[in-house]
Amino acid sequence: MFESVLGTPGTRILVVAAHADDEVLGVGGTIHRACTEWGAKVSFAIAADGRGTRNGAINLDQVREAALSACSRIGASEVIFGGLGMNPDRPLDPFEVSGFVTESLRKLSPNVVFAHFDGDINIEHTVLNQATTYSLARPEFAHTVTLALEYEVPSSTERNPRTCFTPSLWVNLPAASMQAKQEAFAAYIHEQEAEPCGRSAHGIRALAAYRGMQVGVEFCEAFHITRGIAT
Ligand SMILES: [Zn+2]
Repeated sequence: MFESVLGTPGTRILVVAAHADDEVLGVGGTIHRACTEWGAKVSFAIAADGRGTRNGAINLDQVREAALSACSRIGASEVIFGGLGMNPDRPLDPFEVSGFVTESLRKLSPNVVFAHFDGDINIEHTVLNQATTYSLARPEFAHTVTLALEYEVPSSTERNPRTCFTPSLWVNLPAASMQAKQEAFAAYIHEQEAEPCGRSAHGIRALAAYRGMQVGVEFCEAFHITRGIAT
């Protein structure tokens, strides 16, 4: 179903992310494949890009510059920034986040939506999950979004000992898409972790290899389907 939706001319994909780098870590290879092989039009909505400034190493313009470079490498046609998360002492406001997601859905009219897993250890990922779930439940999106999926983020999903990400869809990543994902993540030089942690070249490759092993191919990204509508 996934490929048939993406293979439909004019398919529009929206990737909702809390932070600049989540989109590449979670969906980077699949988006590259969707753009280069399946002709999809892909947009990213990054809510709390302000969190990229939290360690003081870079400012908001530099965070956005890195995100635009990364998203361009994997094939995005548009990146929308929410500008939230500038105050490190203030938690994300779920109502602000929900408003941002709803407006992104209205602006882009996607058929396919990717969002965070609600079991991530990073609480801001769960805020984005709830905001996306809430927005997609609105009647105006009841039939227009025919496929909704949750993605995992290495460094956050696997670190919650109380939850388990259970994939229901695997996307095979050819070498070119794995390379694009790795190169896109390299744009986030201030978000790298030392190997063997998840937010590293090693971590990305190890997770992709594990997901590939589950279905008998070399590399995959895996997703949990939360909505599938055959029209
Ligand atoms: Zn994140």
